[in-house]
Amino acid sequence: MGLGTKMIHAGAEPDPCTGAIMTPIYQTSTYVQESPGKHKGYEYARSQNPTRFALERAVAEIENGKYGLVFSSGVAATDAVIKLLKPGDEVIAAADMYGGTYRLFSKVFQKFGIIFHYVNMQDAAAIKPFINKNTRLIWTETPTNPLMNVTDIEAVANIAKAHNILLCVDNTFASPYLQNPLDFGADIVMHSATKYLGGHSDVIQGCLIVNDDKLRDDLYFIQKSCGAVPGPQDCFLVLRGIKTLHVRMQRHCENGEQVAHYLRSNDKVQHVYWCGFEDHPGYAVAKKQMRGFGGMMSFTLKDDSIATANKVLSSTKIFSLAESLGGVESLINHPASMTHASIPREERLKNGLTDSLIRLSVGIEDAKDLIADLAQAIG
Ligand SMILES: *Cc1c(COP(=O)(O)O)cnc(C)c1O
Repeated sequence: MGLGTKMIHAGAEPDPCTGAIMTPIYQTSTYVQESPGKHKGYEYARSQNPTRFALERAVAEIENGKYGLVFSSGVAATDAVIKLLKPGDEVIAAADMYGGTYRLFSKVFQKFGIIFHYVNMQDAAAIKPFINKNTRLIWTETPTNPLMNVTDIEAVANIAKAHNILLCVDNTFASPYLQNPLDFGADIVMHSATKYLGGHSDVIQGCLIVNDDKLRDDLYFIQKSCGAVPGPQDCFLVLRGIKTLHVRMQRHCENGEQVAHYLRSNDKVQHVYWCGFEDHPGYAVAKKQMRGFGGMMSFTLKDDSIATANKVLSSTKIFSLAESLGGVESLINHPASMTHASIPREERLKNGLTDSLIRLSVGIEDAKDLIADLAQAIG
């Protein structure tokens, strides 16, 4: 089945009561039982909700997985994965990743005795020295936010398997249209569904996709016990978003390519981080594991002052200055003061995330308008 057909039909079954083609929003907290314990499989909406179940089937299908679990946010999905662990367990995490993931690991879970090692995973072998008998999980993100570094999922998965370690890949930037980490040996795929899956900047949500029955049961137990479940209306919005994921991503890729090449040709621009350039260090791996390069990129200016970066950030008219990404509209962001402010400055600089770096989420408007907007803002 083609990817487009799959995105449109994933998880969808006509409503058994009415035949409604769209999954109804089951806005209910509880379900009436015929006699104690005799029910239709639905007891209480924290544990079961038909709208949520439809979305969980959909995300599983489009990630080539067996099971999906959705959460009230991307970080709630990440939180559930770390709750598989216990004090003394160790995690090897990507050095260059979403600031909120770093904050959750270092400020929330570290104090419960879970140990995190942050490693640059562009070279998969760099993980090996950090593996010991307590290592339970490798957490990676590819391409990374915001520097667009690429991790070889298959190479990391091989190392993880050899040592019986779980591998979780945050696939938010690529989306299931461009990359399916389970196919390369990952155990868990995580998404901030807030971004490309929802696609319209109108919902906060996260999800996990797995193949293993026990892993699914353990994560479902955490989902219902800790309670970070999304409401049915939010599930409906993401179900609707997924139906156009393939056409949106095609346009994100086309626009991304044009904007990246334009930025590179601008003589005020110092460096453009986009994994679709043939001279990008991760290009070959990206070609192997992705079906396109997407609309995320970042760049620096030759004049490396914060003041000049601020001028660009405040001068765009179509690109809105905002956190988040993956919506139909283009966004411009300053990682050092916005999305990645929770990472200490020294840590950021070590990973190449400078004060003047500008990140773009290239939307699906007309590319020529986006380029004209950047041209006037860069000046
Ligand atoms: C936004 C984001 C998250 C966190 O998701 P929320 O839905 O905001 O909780 C995690 N990883 C990446 C790569 C993100 O961009």
